[in-house]
Amino acid sequence: MRIDPPIAIIASIVGYAVVVIAFSNGAAAQSPHDEAPTACQIRLASDRAIFKPLGELGGPAGCGGPDVISLERIMVADRTVVAIEPPATLRCETAEAIVSFVRQDLAPAAAAMGSALSAIENYDSYDCRGRNRVAGAKLSEHGLANALDIRSVRLRDGRVVRPADQAAPSEFRAAMKAAACNRFATVLGPGSDGYHEDHIHIDRIERHGGYRLCQWDLHDGAQTYALQSVVAPSRPGATALAVPVPLPRPRPFTAAGARAVFLPDESRP
Ligand SMILES: [Zn+2]
Repeated sequence: MRIDPPIAIIASIVGYAVVVIAFSNGAAAQSPHDEAPTACQIRLASDRAIFKPLGELGGPAGCGGPDVISLERIMVADRTVVAIEPPATLRCETAEAIVSFVRQDLAPAAAAMGSALSAIENYDSYDCRGRNRVAGAKLSEHGLANALDIRSVRLRDGRVVRPADQAAPSEFRAAMKAAACNRFATVLGPGSDGYHEDHIHIDRIERHGGYRLCQWDLHDGAQTYALQSVVAPSRPGATALAVPVPLPRPRPFTAAGARAVFLPDESRP
């Protein structure tokens, strides 16, 4: 059977295009950002979060970490979506702990206030810096993409709740503190060290003996832990140690307001 020359030419062009597309796809699959998903990413991607894999993050002075993601949204069990604003750059396993914290702890605490979570204000996540911004100090967990600062949560009914603010519902603040101190190695809030009066810091630092640091004065009459006290020794008879804690850089409230994408104008100083 004879094929007309124009048809043969068209077939050749189409075939070439298919080859080019196939080759392009193959080349893209080898790019650093298109590697096979990690086990952590698979767990998150099933129905729990929306994120962008960033791969291994490197930085000066030991900053960065493996399997870092940009966490954009968290899916709560009732299929509501909680935005992370702006998206947080975190190690995947730290992000996974935060996803569980939001789904299992903060969402029910918000429901108890008569609404649903809409967004979490990410005040700081990955940030290559030393603790307390002291030259030569150990890296902050922020420098290891292992920490998140939360300044506020937004509810679907429009309310903005700042957990560090004593005017926020005390039940929500108490529930958030209890859950955070249960899940994370470090929780720092108002009354801890002067650097956390307007936000809550949580991280997953690994301390010798599994010690945890829970410092957040709810101003509810409960005892406030002294600076650098350490709670919850992992084994009986273990001695509490004074552990340096990561501190964020001092931030004037006005500068922070510029980063808060959903705070009402009248609340900005
Ligand atoms: Zn922090």
